[in-house]
Amino acid sequence: MSVRVRIAPSPTGFAHLGTASTALYNVLFARKESGTFVLRVDDTDVERNRPEYEQLIYESLRWLGLDWDEGPDKGGPYEPYRQSERVDVYRQEAARLIKDGKAYRCYCTPEELEAERKQAQLEKRPYRYSRRCLKNSPEGRSVFAVRFQVPGGEVRFTDMIRGEMKFDTDLIGDFIIMKSDGYPVYQFASPVDDAVMKITHVIRGEEHLSNTPYQLMLIDALGYERPHAYAHMPLILAPDGTKMSKRKHPEMNLALYREQGYLPEALLNYLALLGWNPGTEQEIFTFDELVHAFSFDRVQHAGARFDWEKLNWLNGEYIRKLSDDELAARLRPFLPQLDEETIKKAVPPLRTRMHKLAQAVDYLDYLWTDPQPPALETETTLRLRSAIDALKDVPWEPDRIEAALEKAVEESGVSKGKFYTPLRDVLTGKKVALPIHYGFYLLPKDVAMFRLHRATNIPD
Ligand code: GLU
Repeated sequence: MSVRVRIAPSPTGFAHLGTASTALYNVLFARKESGTFVLRVDDTDVERNRPEYEQLIYESLRWLGLDWDEGPDKGGPYEPYRQSERVDVYRQEAARLIKDGKAYRCYCTPEELEAERKQAQLEKRPYRYSRRCLKNSPEGRSVFAVRFQVPGGEVRFTDMIRGEMKFDTDLIGDFIIMKSDGYPVYQFASPVDDAVMKITHVIRGEEHLSNTPYQLMLIDALGYERPHAYAHMPLILAPDGTKMSKRKHPEMNLALYREQGYLPEALLNYLALLGWNPGTEQEIFTFDELVHAFSFDRVQHAGARFDWEKLNWLNGEYIRKLSDDELAARLRPFLPQLDEETIKKAVPPLRTRMHKLAQAVDYLDYLWTDPQPPALETETTLRLRSAIDALKDVPWEPDRIEAALEKAVEESGVSKGKFYTPLRDVLTGKKVALPIHYGFYLLPKDVAMFRLHRATNIPD
């Protein structure tokens, strides 16, 4: 069997973490099995789809390095890969089901259906469509939806994480597969495409577990071969253990990680470990190692809580492993105000102090914004003057600056902390900053000296 997997994101909002995580597991499995990874765009919700959201999905997945083999922008043997362009396929398949007596036209109005639902509520029984239009459809109406006639009985399938699953479908009422606007519902379009596109393994979020029996009934009714297996990956939960919501949890938005300077390879590593464990102590994996180590039997069943601390730790580890040049290159987009040279100089002290690249801005923005000169006590002013004297003839190299300052500290008779705090203040205006000698070194000498002079009220 040649493995074919897919993701089917909906372009209805920003690209989110769940999409990245599902894509990762699909790619890991596809690479391990030398299979094909398909990107199918689930854009049947005509009202909420936006082409720019589709672009965001592409960009985010590419940023993560999770490239696909077939997709709307790439083509492939089963194109088109955008569901909005496949509506004819769904209409034909719905017509086939009607012809075979496995689906029927439903002319009920939303008000009539609501009345049925209310009645069921009153009678305290679970609601199922009454099959009114199957038995005795109203005359003279032209607007209809298509309903699948649920055959009932048990649906069984293999879940690669949960093992053998079985669902009793007797409780499922006949459900709509094509809406009255002529568009399919997700529950119909998705299994049709999975079958037509010869998907062998459906790997998706746990929220779809309860959809699988619906989709399998449809695949069976259409006479297609079923995908070989399904895998329903644990939900990613918010740090407080609640369900993530786009509105309340910024961690849902993939753009955030890019903006904050999480390295894509670190985020992938983190996402792999969120919900899966390798069964060893190893926590840092290259992509190839993940491909090799990943297996569904080590995926947890319970939801996986997002853990910033762990992500930050991992990202810091990845940052520390980059070469100087590589780290400088990754920092460049965060520091457009700085020239290449300065960024390179800043790399050594930054490397050990960052868990995300955006922190470089917090450390370095004093280079392009002039801090407010603080009011100083006389004693502090005198110390600043001794720093000026110590630095004035020093070649502008970090260790030379450090040595000169240390000497000045010694001569001052106060502690390093006491000596350096006002210096740091005058130079950077920051409480948390790089070591003081780097603070000086990264500024052009004349600018650094100017800031000291200005604070001591000595004309430079
Ligand atoms: N559009 C659905 C989602 O993003 C696809 C689910 C599926 O993979 O079947 O959740």
